[in-house]
Amino acid sequence: MSEIIRLSRMYMPTLRDVPADADIASHQLLLRAAMIRKTASGIYTFLPLGYKVLSKIENIVRQEMDATGALEIMMPALQPSELWHESGRWDDYGPELMRLVDRHDHGYCLGPTHEELITSLVKGELRSYKQLPVTLYQIQVKFRDEIRPRFGLLRSREFIMKDAYSFHDSQESLQETYDAMSVAYGRICDRCGLEWRAVEADSGQIGGKVTCEFMALAESGEAELVYCDCGYSANTEAGECIAKPTVYESGELAKISTPGIHTIEELAEFLGIPETSTVKALSGKDAEGGLYVLFVPGDHEVNEIKAARAVEGFELLTDEEMLAFGLHKGSMGPVNLPEGAKVVADVSLKDVPEWVVGANEEGFHFVGAAPGRDFDVDVWADLCVVKPGDVCPECGKQLKGARGIEVSQVFQLGDKYSKSMGATYLDQNGKEQPFIMGCYGVGVTRTLAAVVEQHSDEAGIKWPAGIAPAHVCIIPLNVGDDLVQPAAERLAESLVEFGFDVAIDDRKERPGVKFADADLIGWPLQIVIGKRGLEEGTIELRRRRTGEKRDMELSVATELFSFAKKHLMNREHGDIAMFEGLFS
Ligand code: ATP
Ligand code: MG
Repeated sequence: MSEIIRLSRMYMPTLRDVPADADIASHQLLLRAAMIRKTASGIYTFLPLGYKVLSKIENIVRQEMDATGALEIMMPALQPSELWHESGRWDDYGPELMRLVDRHDHGYCLGPTHEELITSLVKGELRSYKQLPVTLYQIQVKFRDEIRPRFGLLRSREFIMKDAYSFHDSQESLQETYDAMSVAYGRICDRCGLEWRAVEADSGQIGGKVTCEFMALAESGEAELVYCDCGYSANTEAGECIAKPTVYESGELAKISTPGIHTIEELAEFLGIPETSTVKALSGKDAEGGLYVLFVPGDHEVNEIKAARAVEGFELLTDEEMLAFGLHKGSMGPVNLPEGAKVVADVSLKDVPEWVVGANEEGFHFVGAAPGRDFDVDVWADLCVVKPGDVCPECGKQLKGARGIEVSQVFQLGDKYSKSMGATYLDQNGKEQPFIMGCYGVGVTRTLAAVVEQHSDEAGIKWPAGIAPAHVCIIPLNVGDDLVQPAAERLAESLVEFGFDVAIDDRKERPGVKFADADLIGWPLQIVIGKRGLEEGTIELRRRRTGEKRDMELSVATELFSFAKKHLMNREHGDIAMFEGLFS
């Protein structure tokens, strides 16, 4: 049974002022509400109330993982470098990997993720196809030496992740687990009270091809999303881009003097045409140093991940390299390129028979540059960062835009790790096969902060009831009063009996201080008990989420709470609906 949290004995140094180095709501409020404290850049301590929230989120994650049949384990954070050499990521991961050396000169890293460790764990012991599929997970601390730790728990250097890994003998089996994990991830978001979207994503450092991110919608989010009413949504890092360039017809190739004009904006203004009628160029080289010039509609940006997919090892040219090739920044074009240069153009430019584009001559542009007549395109590829207003690749309508916080991601890894690390099982014919793998990560501490981004106001946090440090905070106004104090204690006890987590603000503080702290900490329901009300048998209920207040007879309230208890058991909507009945 839950215990009563007594605020007189709680360690909760709340802050009235906004901390100077915290610039978004979740960071400010988690500090102010005494949920967390900063230990060093990107490193935080959870104080008692924050730790209660964290534990509740972890439990939701645990329940949803267990429900999929995944098995909980605990791997070490400290990982030997040999494993990372085997997978090739010791070199590939870069400076985000926290590396260290022990007294015997052995290399280690503090795990940013655990694909290597888990693959070595099952290697040699998970042997037969008959044992598959298997999914193992842990809830554990992760380390990433982020270049810019910021926004408090949203991008920290030490954070808590739930990471799960699945092993399969077929793509179908992987797909089944991947789908089940995706459903579980949606439920985790729901139960934490998040408004979220699952989006098409890029697999980044982890590898694999099929992947999906779960985004908590928030203006402060670092990720940009596009979405459509038809249900399609994608991270702009990854989404297919179908731009709608417009055509400026000239009829023939004509060189135009454009003195001092270097940007698309200036060019469009100079010619009196929309930016969509211009073509933007970007130069780079492949792994062998060969020159590539990329062309995209003028109102779009090149997506470097896509560029690297179109041109192996693609890297942007430096200003010096451009000069060495005889290229002019701000007036590059496909006509009269240096010998051997390859032209890579965005697929949406296929619909543009005449381009307005640089002339490879300082201070000059072409209008009417026609692909196939004036120059050739070597490669057509999807090159652009998709943006709102582009065409939905699924239904053809216009995409809309939003921002989000990536709280979790699921990946189909295939055999990337099992192959490089030699982790195999015996198939039905007794033949060695590399495992087909999936991996699935929930940012537990990031989820906590994302909830605050979505559920707060100037006064403080508004925890969804399912993850609040306690569901109810009872606030006796006159502590020690022989009417008020026993009534508050009795109510607390009966609420605990109904299954609620209850706090009681038994501090000898002024009512104003208690109210301010209660709003800041964000208890979903406050019950104010004062002498005057009690004499008439009433208490006051305050609902943090909506700001609703109402007086109620103590006996009626107790009755209603026994009904509200039912919502506690209801995992789906317990969070929001728990106290609905008290205010309707
Ligand atoms: P990002 O793109 O935001 O750096 P990521 O895609 O590298 O994150 P994953 O490798 O997919 O992260 O890790 C799984 C989850 O761990 C993420 O969805 C996120 O919720 C969480 N996470 C990753 N990096 C951090 C961080 N620096 N601080 C807090 N949580 C993080
Ligand atoms: Mg990710």
